Amino acid sequence: MDRNAQASTFQQRLNELKAKVADLQDQVKGVRRHLDRAADRVVLTGHAVVDLSRCTACGICEQLCPQGAVHVSDVARVDVSRCTGCGTCVQYCPQGAIRLSAVR
Ligand code: SF4
Ligand code: SF4
Repeated sequence: MDRNAQASTFQQRLNELKAKVADLQDQVKGVRRHLDRAADRVVLTGHAVVDLSRCTACGICEQLCPQGAVHVSDVARVDVSRCTGCGTCVQYCPQGAIRLSAVR
């Protein structure tokens, strides 16, 4: 094989390797997107946490919780063993006093 043929073969292999690297980079991006979405789901499955300084004990969260996980006396308190993290109380609290924790 002369030098020109060798150079051509080398260039061809180099191009094939570049294409494989580009393909692998795309796969890594796909895995990263998948992990980001999984991380978002983890955030959504946390339990309700009450900011006691904002709660006015109106009782709306207690009435709306489908799990019976909130009890309101002087402030709202969440039974985390019953809370499924559905977010209803977060959505309807008029004081913005409830959020979902990042993890269970
Ligand atoms: S809805 Fe909000 S302000 Fe009302 S009791 Fe629940 S946490 Fe407190
Ligand atoms: S997140 Fe859902 S289950 Fe948990 S306390 Fe709020 S309303 Fe109840």
